[in-house]
Amino acid sequence: MFIGHYAAGFALKSVEKKASLGMLFIAVQFVDILFFSFALLGIEKYRLIENFTAINHMDLYFYPYTHGLVSSFLWAGLIYGLWRYVPFFKKGGNGRLALVMAIGILSHWFLDFIVHIPDLPLIGDDSPKVGLGLWNSFMGTLVVEIALFAGAVLLYLRATKPADNSGFKGRYAMIIFAAFMGAFYIMSVNMPFDPAVTVTVTSITGLVLYGIFAALAFWLDRYRR
Ligand SMILES: [Zn+2]
Repeated sequence: MFIGHYAAGFALKSVEKKASLGMLFIAVQFVDILFFSFALLGIEKYRLIENFTAINHMDLYFYPYTHGLVSSFLWAGLIYGLWRYVPFFKKGGNGRLALVMAIGILSHWFLDFIVHIPDLPLIGDDSPKVGLGLWNSFMGTLVVEIALFAGAVLLYLRATKPADNSGFKGRYAMIIFAAFMGAFYIMSVNMPFDPAVTVTVTSITGLVLYGIFAALAFWLDRYRR
């Protein structure tokens, strides 16, 4: 799943305004950020095979530390602890904010569960692997991801309003950004397979994209309250 993860970010922001949308964007992709980093370091592994599923070319064959169900709960617990007890992260936050951040981390596994083929381990790599396999349907994946994303953006737009004197940025910038993300997603799944693109290039591209999306969310969220 790609932009569907950000649906969780927008939805969580709409129920907890103290959360930073930028931080939530990092939280909902946290295990993927770790995964691409671990893949670059050789700790976790995937390979690129043309049309491995109907919508992408990724054979995710070893990633128990980031995409195991149990490890997801551990990462969520870690983030909960940081946001609950460590002043640097906590700032003015409370237990509810820590909980929202932890749910952001956990949302990733459950959204992945809908789309992934059975490659998500429950515990370690030799434990049973699960996934409902929506990735076997190109249109099905597209519709579900866009519906989740658009629905959550609407929740966010209804729960927040333009900050005072924020003008055009407050009213329209987030809508333009969300439309851009949707368009980018549709473009990305329609890109032809390129055998020259390596796992290293794919991993770095993923990390850069997650960084750009989070930075834009940090920036534009300042113009809504
Ligand atoms: Zn993932």
